[in-house]
Amino acid sequence: SQTSDQLSSFFKSGIYRFESSNAVFIDPVRVLNRSYNRFRVSPSAYYSRFFESDKAKAEPAIATNYRKRKRKQKVKRPYTLNDRERIADQRHQEARPLLLKAHDALLGAIDLLAVIRSLRSERCSSEGSRDLFLPSVKQSFVELSSVWQAPLYEITLNFPQYREPTLGGGSPVIHSCEQRLIPVFNNLVVNETSKDVEAEFLNSRYIIPRKSSFYMSDLGKIHNLIPAESDCGFNLILVDPPWENSSAHQKLKYPTLPNRHFLSLPIKQLAHTQGALLALWVTNREKLRSFVEKELFPSWGVKYMATLYWLKVKADGILTSELDLFHHRPYECLLLGYYHGESRTPECLSRFKPIPDNQVFISVPGDYSRKPPIGELLLEYAPGSEPARCIELFAREMLAGWTSWGNEPLHFQESTYFLRT
Ligand code: SAM
Repeated sequence: SQTSDQLSSFFKSGIYRFESSNAVFIDPVRVLNRSYNRFRVSPSAYYSRFFESDKAKAEPAIATNYRKRKRKQKVKRPYTLNDRERIADQRHQEARPLLLKAHDALLGAIDLLAVIRSLRSERCSSEGSRDLFLPSVKQSFVELSSVWQAPLYEITLNFPQYREPTLGGGSPVIHSCEQRLIPVFNNLVVNETSKDVEAEFLNSRYIIPRKSSFYMSDLGKIHNLIPAESDCGFNLILVDPPWENSSAHQKLKYPTLPNRHFLSLPIKQLAHTQGALLALWVTNREKLRSFVEKELFPSWGVKYMATLYWLKVKADGILTSELDLFHHRPYECLLLGYYHGESRTPECLSRFKPIPDNQVFISVPGDYSRKPPIGELLLEYAPGSEPARCIELFAREMLAGWTSWGNEPLHFQESTYFLRT
């Protein structure tokens, strides 16, 4: 039947496409696992929040959600909005029906809801994954990078021995075990092989996916990633900036930067000469949205194309907060735009694939500020020849086929987030 087809493709891809809706549900653990062959992402480590054991298991939650929603709509606003808040509210009112429709699609997918409830406890492989890693210390890369010894710090990559079949059916290439010591800061660290690699740095272990690389540095060094040859730029650029906000909790998690710093990101220089798709995570603050529209995209040479919404739900399918809560919306936006590349005529953008506006993707959030891996869904819009060259800026994790840059791109690569298969 149709639903079981949808479910079985979800089990393979981690992506569930709802019928007659512009929404998808994503299980980040399944999506991320496609980057690994020797390890798996630990569901319990990924889903560290939003799985309250007893509450999540309670069945009637869905029914009460409908009642709650009816009641919520009647709530009057306690104060009048200022100009900026009015614009923000207008944006929210436009998004609201799309988000409700997407959420209804999720609440209607009973089979999927049952799967979501068990996402955290799931064992992905039938043999049972073994959690065999030695205790690992969480490093503060930001602190380590600022000490005088920083240029001396090295990461050890332990490449395994493996046989790689050749495409033409000839005899396989044998890769032998190899250990490489490489400076960890201000240096491009590459795993060019098709196997995950275990790495050691100080007292911690990290898992580096196949065909991936990272460059761990402060913003001041990002120009080192600008490709020397003009046709080696990136076709897909995903950016999740450390926007300033007033949350005290946020301040403990990572440093932030004032908006003007992002104006100097060398997007044009990083982009491929054939053009690039740029995807930018923004918060719901109106001041930020207008900065992006009026200053940031124009200074990057990016033409705005579409907005994607990330709707956040708990394990029982209910929104993580009330949809209409002004300062704590259960959704975030990803703004998409094209950089035209070398051809400068305005018509050149018509060569690029049109991006549908207002798509919604739903997931259960992982750690604080961790975004779901939507790079793959964006790939189909990346201009230029395949495979697209992809980079994530301000990354805290790595993906097969991607370059990750930021001051802590190894953060979620730490071995406690993984299981051995
Ligand atoms: N996309 C990430 C995820 O899903 O986990 C979250 C990125 S978080 C919003 C922003 C990141 O930018 C943090 O890791 C922070 O440490 C980093 N950052 C802050 N200031 C930076 C700087 N000056 N240079 C490089 N990275 C910086």
